[in-house]
Amino acid sequence: MRNTSEEVRVRFAPSPTGYLHVGGARTAIFNWLYARNKKGKFLIRIEDTDVARSSKEMVDAIFEGLKWLDLKWDEEPVYQSNRIGYYRQICQQLVEQNKAYYCYCSQEKLAQRSESYKYDGHCRNLTDGQRSEYERLNVPKAIRFKVPQTTITFVDAVRGSLKFNSDEIDDFIILKSDGMPTYHLAVVADDHDMKITHVIRGDDHLSNTPKHVLLYQALNWSIPAYSHLPLILGPDKKRLSKRHGATAVSEYREMGILPDAMFNFLTLLGWNPGSDQEIMSREQIVNRFSLSKINKSNAIFDEQKLIWMNGNYIRQTDDAIILNLVRAQLIAENLIDPDKEDREYLLKVISLLKPRMKFLNEFAETGFYFFRDPEEYNEKAKKKHWKGVDVGERLEKLYLSLENVTPFGQDEIEKNVRELAEELEISAAKLIHPARVSLTGSGSSPGIFEVMEALGKDVVIRRLKKAVSANS
Ligand code: GLU
Ligand code: ZN
Repeated sequence: MRNTSEEVRVRFAPSPTGYLHVGGARTAIFNWLYARNKKGKFLIRIEDTDVARSSKEMVDAIFEGLKWLDLKWDEEPVYQSNRIGYYRQICQQLVEQNKAYYCYCSQEKLAQRSESYKYDGHCRNLTDGQRSEYERLNVPKAIRFKVPQTTITFVDAVRGSLKFNSDEIDDFIILKSDGMPTYHLAVVADDHDMKITHVIRGDDHLSNTPKHVLLYQALNWSIPAYSHLPLILGPDKKRLSKRHGATAVSEYREMGILPDAMFNFLTLLGWNPGSDQEIMSREQIVNRFSLSKINKSNAIFDEQKLIWMNGNYIRQTDDAIILNLVRAQLIAENLIDPDKEDREYLLKVISLLKPRMKFLNEFAETGFYFFRDPEEYNEKAKKKHWKGVDVGERLEKLYLSLENVTPFGQDEIEKNVRELAEELEISAAKLIHPARVSLTGSGSSPGIFEVMEALGKDVVIRRLKKAVSANS
């Protein structure tokens, strides 16, 4: 074990064979939290030795996801593809120490391996003669680790003390015949070289850890502390996958989830903050985080909870910050002209919409009427609120009376509408609901008097007139 007084160094080690998905992001966050809590270092290592399946595009997407979540790393990221020579040297050393050996078995033979495949140890004890014959024939060779007969024990911060028998482990490959290291070798070589003190990773790696421990022992290196994070399941208790909906962090970003909401939500997937308070600032989470509060039981990814949290975060966020986050979309949807942007008006709209928003995208999607006259009206809203033969007449009386309201402020507007209702001997609702459909195209919106004030008299009258003709 490493000396416990040394500086904490953790790493997030994604394989760039896919986008940053929520499971990977959760692992990154837990590593980051631990580093910040312990005032240690959070490092990134790109595990790109599988050249065929890795791509620059995925590397970029992973970094972009980490930046979006505001997880800053402390040192230059390490790329495994730059370190092949280092891995070969270690494998060589293990061969020289008789802790590993060349395996000449053919690709075809190895390709037959199934889940239960175990290497038969064919090349473990080749005679010198057999070996030189293979060499003479130039048979491609891999390097296998000679698994010793032993009991492997290690402590996992989440699961406690674990014991494995090395009989269950076959002589695994550490360097493939194409000269590339396997995951097991590279991960151990790098964690050692990067002076990683704590390995915090998904539960799916737990079965790899005994192999890693054996390698550390063979190399006489100190073993990091392990924490394996519980699996993330969908609401149906099956492993989270595409079937459950979005799994890439970027998809949530596109949906209009705030990075802080995503961050807070992911911290709760497998970590117990020790109180019922679920919405916490980053600072609170950093201060409360500890490996001993990681749950053993699987975590359930409840998208509804994320959406609920996001609504909370939207309400907590300053209007000006929201504006920065939604501006690009408003421009993209041609709702605002970047050259003639009216900041005051945009902030006003945001303050009106904010209380009911669950996604940032809704500012453009449901709030479009703050920028453009509705071209059609929601069918259900029409049926419900534009009924009665006199609806056109009511809307007409409404705009005629609103023409006289100055200043066009919400209180003045409300007073006018209520007086008109009294005069017509109808309930104010008979004016308000039809007006809402006329002004917004839908049956729900922020308070209609505030909406009217924000839109301004000209726009209100224009839209009411259009509604009158739609009802005549
Ligand atoms: N590259 C591995 C993965 O993406 C992680 C390795 C590790 O954390 O040890 O699953
Ligand atoms: Zn062999």
